[in-house]
Amino acid sequence: MSNDLRGEQRLDPVKRAVTLTSDGTDPRATEHGMNATATPAPVHTLRLVLGDQLHRGHSWFTQVDRQVVYVLMEVRQETDYVLHHAQKILVIFAAMRDFARQLRAAGHRVRYVALDDASNRQSIGNNLSALAAHYGARRVEWQQPDEWRLDAQLQAWGAAQALEWAVVDSEHFLTARGELAALMGQRKQWLMEHFYRHMRRRWRLLLDANGAPAGGQWNFDHDNRKRWPGTPPEPADWRPQHDHSALWRTVQRSGVQSFGNPQAADLRWPLNRSEALACLEAFIATALPHFGDYEDALAAQAPRLFHSLLSFALNVKMLHPLEVVQRAEAAWRAGQAPLAAVEGFVRQIVGWREYVRGIYWAHMPGYASRNALHQHTPLPQWFWSGDTHMRCLHLAITQSLQTAHAHHIQRLMVIGNFALLSGLEPQALHRWYLGIYIDAFEWVELPNTLGMSQRADGGLIATKPYVSSAAYLQRMGDYCQGCAYDPKQKTGTRACPFNALYWDFFERHAPVLQGNPRLTLVYRQLHKMPEMQREALRAHADQLRDRLATL
Ligand code: FAD
Ligand code: SF4
Repeated sequence: MSNDLRGEQRLDPVKRAVTLTSDGTDPRATEHGMNATATPAPVHTLRLVLGDQLHRGHSWFTQVDRQVVYVLMEVRQETDYVLHHAQKILVIFAAMRDFARQLRAAGHRVRYVALDDASNRQSIGNNLSALAAHYGARRVEWQQPDEWRLDAQLQAWGAAQALEWAVVDSEHFLTARGELAALMGQRKQWLMEHFYRHMRRRWRLLLDANGAPAGGQWNFDHDNRKRWPGTPPEPADWRPQHDHSALWRTVQRSGVQSFGNPQAADLRWPLNRSEALACLEAFIATALPHFGDYEDALAAQAPRLFHSLLSFALNVKMLHPLEVVQRAEAAWRAGQAPLAAVEGFVRQIVGWREYVRGIYWAHMPGYASRNALHQHTPLPQWFWSGDTHMRCLHLAITQSLQTAHAHHIQRLMVIGNFALLSGLEPQALHRWYLGIYIDAFEWVELPNTLGMSQRADGGLIATKPYVSSAAYLQRMGDYCQGCAYDPKQKTGTRACPFNALYWDFFERHAPVLQGNPRLTLVYRQLHKMPEMQREALRAHADQLRDRLATL
């Protein structure tokens, strides 16, 4: 696998077979529609670029070959497989358009199928078939898709074709699809920490000269659990702003359904590698030094805190994970950020991110339907409005609807925590997470939601359920201040729902969870409670579950 990041620089202008016009565009790059009668210039290969494969450094783009046409397409298949946040649809299409523009400017031939093109068949396979016929292409190539759904679709499409086809590496990840499974072998639990150390050694990250972990330990997580006191201030939002109103009109005219806020003021995602690199630099300079300390904090007035907001740029491959973590390590070596912060950040990217991808490929397609705790309650309607009296959920969901982003603790310990405690169906929750977040692609979203957050995989990822009562949420921030509920009360009309639901969750699932050594203390505490108290908690939890819609 090549991880050469210098693709852009390696483009040799001498090898370009075309002359660019003064505005940087190539008039011959405007390809005809699939139904056009004009015969296109001869083509031997079509290369499909998916919306999350905007990897300018990929070796495909190092040389210009005018017998190759790069195909990008905006299709209803991709807008409609789940109900998406408006920003996700807009930003992916806008970034694809920008990528097509860059390829054309570099001399490549590009066929861009816009959402409202008359010839658009709205499915990747049907468009590919039509384009292959239109160009008389002998061969079609695509990069390994990250999602099982697309991988299966393209394989099936290829198998039905008479022409040659080939799949190439996306040259993005630091591990091959099956590598985690090979490393973990027959182990019952695939511990992330084990994998993470392997990755640190393999990519020589944060190591001393003798190969030991920098600072004498692999993991500084225990330093990273502080409540944010209000200072240092949350850095100003460094992300670019774009006006996508014309594209939004096209999306609406085409009848695509969506939810969430499409307004420019909150729509601040990079559209290309240059913008993504600027975001990376701004994060390193202003937020990384405090990333570790406040990684788990919750703050009503500081929705981004010191998080990087780089997940979108990483997942659509504008940035390479190695360059991001190496940049963070360089900041530590230059004395610009503490080791605990840099280690925490590196662990998320070379540890968790690669690890969940390995889980996904090792266990799909069956993984998507797992529901080990047999939870079946539909999501309350307020997941689509934020309209709940529980302030923590109101804040986290409203922010998600407004900005298509929530940080990890909001996703895990606010929304996911409540979903697991109240018995929501993991698959319905998965569809919600997949639709709402700007960075949500199934390979990363599904293991996080079903595995880490909902324990629907029976504990493959998480050594214990990520649940808490109100005490944790109160400790980690200011969400409880001004809430209609009281975090200290366990039963009664003003009692915080997290409290009774928390104890009831452990009671209900005792047959599967009680034997877990990491839960010994929880069960000891539960068993010490007087039966009357347990009964009151049970009754209150039942009542809460009966009126989830009005909580
Ligand atoms: P930061 O806090 O700045 O972290 C840095 C980077 O580390 C992120 O950009 C991301 O690439 C990586 N990272 C951090 N945690 C994880 C993780 N658990 N798994 C994989 N990568 C991680 N992340 C997604 O990219 N897409 C998703 O669809 C997604 N769904 C999630 C669903 C649930 C229920 C949970 C609990 C987590 C989910 N995550 C997902 C992981 C994490 O919440 C986001 O990556 C993070 O909030 C993105 O914001 P950031 O870029 O500011 O991250
Ligand atoms: Fe959330 Fe309970 Fe705190 Fe309200 S009191 S913000 S519901 S944890």
